[in-house]
Order: sequence, then C-alpha cells, then structure tokens
Amino acid sequence: MWERVEKGNVIYYTLPEWAAQGAQVIMTTRVGGVSEAPYEGLNLGLHVGDDSSAVIANRRLLLDANRWREGAFVTAKQVHGDGVLYVDASFGGRGFSDYESAIDDTDGLFTAERDLVLATFYADCLPLAVFHPTLKLLGLAHAGWQGTYRNIGAALIGAMGAKWDFEPEELWCATGAAIGPCCYQVDADFYQRFLERYPDSDPWFSAGEKGKYRFNNEKANVALLQKAGVKRENISVLGLCTACHDDLFFSYRKGAGKTGRHGLWGALI
Ligand SMILES: [Zn+2]
Repeated sequence: MWERVEKGNVIYYTLPEWAAQGAQVIMTTRVGGVSEAPYEGLNLGLHVGDDSSAVIANRRLLLDANRWREGAFVTAKQVHGDGVLYVDASFGGRGFSDYESAIDDTDGLFTAERDLVLATFYADCLPLAVFHPTLKLLGLAHAGWQGTYRNIGAALIGAMGAKWDFEPEELWCATGAAIGPCCYQVDADFYQRFLERYPDSDPWFSAGEKGKYRFNNEKANVALLQKAGVKRENISVLGLCTACHDDLFFSYRKGAGKTGRHGLWGALI
C-alpha cells in the first residue's frame, strides 16, 4: 500500500512493502521544490517551459532524499504510445539535465539492474509500476487515455515476460495519482471507441453531463492489469485525483495546459 512520506520540505508517496523486497518507488507531489508559478513547487518536467535550473534542483532534492545518484537517472520523451524499453547502466544519466538526451518516443522503462533510477512524468495521466519481488525486475509506464487504449500495462508486462520467465500472477503492480472520473469527462465517441476495443469496458465509465461520460482511467488500468494476469490483491492503488488535489499534484486540465509534472520514479535497491 502507498504511504505518504515527508522528507525535508518535500512530500511523496512510497511503497514500503516493495522497498522491503528491493524496489524503492516514489510517486512525487508538487509540494516543496523551487519552481515558481504556474509550475509552483516540485516541478520535475524539463519540457514544460519552466526554468531548467529550478527543475534540475527539484530533481536533485528527490535524488538526495532517496540516496540516488544523478548518473543513475534515466528518462524518456513520452509520446502517449505503448513503446517500452529495457534499460541498463549504459543509459544512466539520460535526460537528467537536458530534455534532448532523454530516450526518444518511449512511455515505459524496465530494468533488472540496481543503481538505475527509472523516471517517468505526469500531469493527469496514470502512473503505473510493475515489480517482480523475487526476480527483482522493475518497470514503470505512463498511461494517459491513449496509453490505456493501447494497453501499455500489458505491453510492459509482455516485454518483461519476453525477457524473463515468470507468471503475471507473481507480479506486484501499483497505480499513482491521476485525474479521476470526478474531473474527466469524455464524449460519446471516446466511450464507443473503448467499447469497440474492450467490450467489457462499460464499467470504466459513468454518466457525465449532457450526454458525456466520465472516464475512470485508474479502474480501466486495474481491469487491464487483471486481464493480463495480475492478481487484484497485488495491485496497490493510490486513488487520488490530480485535478481535485491540484495543491498536491500537477493537473494539465485544471491548469489549462500550463503546469508542471510530478513523477513516478523507481529503482532496484
Ligand atoms: Zn477530481
């Protein structure tokens, strides 16, 4: 289960049961940090128009709080796709101090190597983490509605399963903060599109205003992970809406597109 941590002036969520088995995963908030409005607080995104020296300082706060090395950090340019990539120590440092050096066109990263900090970024999209507690494998993925539609969770599990021999029921998964159905209305075309691809996806939606639907991306991903073979009791859900809690998280919709990014970061320890 997720647990809230306050360290120095930063707040983040972590998974103590995962840490006890060798994976330190953090879901960051916007609290603490040195960025100014509209990125106020702990903005971790270099590509959103914030002062890059502030972003780098914010990233260092989190590395220091977790005793992680800057040279171990690796991130990618996320494109709302379903591309996932295995990374090893040779990727260390990619995308830490400049966006250009981040890995291209990738929405999920996974590794079996310790001392490599996988970093993914969000403002409303759903953060996903996958961990094999005995083989010590860790993967993170970015699931906005497009990633969900493409089933990036299953893509990540499939890529990990192609490289190592395990059953999905052995995996632990976690979802972080994302925009909730309370704040996420979609049109009928969106609903139909999902229903065509996933005939049992109706429960992921509820009635919205004026013929619209409310989309529950977290619920969708939990269902898709279960469909991929993960046990429900092995999925930790944070269950906080980024738009309702825009004092705690960055929300692209609430901020009308002008906002920072929080992170789902993780390392095998
Ligand atoms: Zn909400």
